[in-house]
Amino acid sequence: MSCLFCRIVDGEIPATIVHETETTLAFRDIQPKARVHVLLIPRGHVPNAVDLNGDQLGDLFAAAKEVADAEGVAETGYRLLFNTGPDSGQEVFHAHLHLLGGERL
Ligand code: ADP
Repeated sequence: MSCLFCRIVDGEIPATIVHETETTLAFRDIQPKARVHVLLIPRGHVPNAVDLNGDQLGDLFAAAKEVADAEGVAETGYRLLFNTGPDSGQEVFHAHLHLLGGERL
């Protein structure tokens, strides 16, 4: 069975998409840990953040900036984080950048 986030990319599982480019997809976390909680992923399957190449990382961070602007948190600030590997709590092994904000974290 293909990975959960690949299925979101393929449109097999619904998600609230807030931003998309040729290489990235951004959608709302289903269990938000902050008022604004968006996940940014590369469209292609990469299990883990440390396996992302420079272009993929650049695209994710550029998309995060766009999402922060659109979500109204660019001025107030936000947190960007990757969980990497089991001890970090990573549950979905398709690399994803969390963007959290909209409140004091
Ligand atoms: P953690 O759950 O410890 O944050 P991850 O960094 O792997 O681990 O994050 C996976 C994230 O994906 C979680 O925040 C979870 O709420 C979110 N999630 C799981 N399934 C979906 C889904 N179908 N749509 C949107 N977000 C999802």
